[in-house]
Amino acid sequence: MWFPDVRTGNGYDVHSFEPGEAVWLCGVEIPHSQKLNGHSDADVGLHALTDALLATCGAGDIGTHFPPSDPQWRGAASRIFVAHAAKIVRERGGRIANVDVTLICEEPKIGPHRAAMTQALSDMLALSAERISIKATTNERLGFIGRGEGIAAIATASVVYPGELTDRG
Ligand code: MG
Repeated sequence: MWFPDVRTGNGYDVHSFEPGEAVWLCGVEIPHSQKLNGHSDADVGLHALTDALLATCGAGDIGTHFPPSDPQWRGAASRIFVAHAAKIVRERGGRIANVDVTLICEEPKIGPHRAAMTQALSDMLALSAERISIKATTNERLGFIGRGEGIAAIATASVVYPGELTDRG
């Protein structure tokens, strides 16, 4: 019996707000009364997605590849991180089947930007829109997210790798 080698990875990230004029979420700049604090552009959605992709082939996490202590990533566009993770997946023969990102925040509203985010991920990953999911929820005003102190993101990626899943894995 033949078993396809389908692997799933997840990723999670949080960034806090600080004074500013826009947030980057899933590759889209959204005007807002605050920005997200971080070494790069602090795109919490893309950071979670990077970790999810790396997880499908046991390639560590975003901090392994882009240490926050490295000054070259100051202010970097997080699409660089996603592209790097996708390159590692491809080099190992992987084909991304789908990605799913959930953004958790009270503000800004994600709905009006969902199509742009889907397009951004489609461009970044060379993946059709039907294989990309962007979801959003509030935290029902509970906890640090509910108090509007930051944004969290959860991502899942499924990748089909070549060969088959054997008894030895
Ligand atoms: Mg991060």
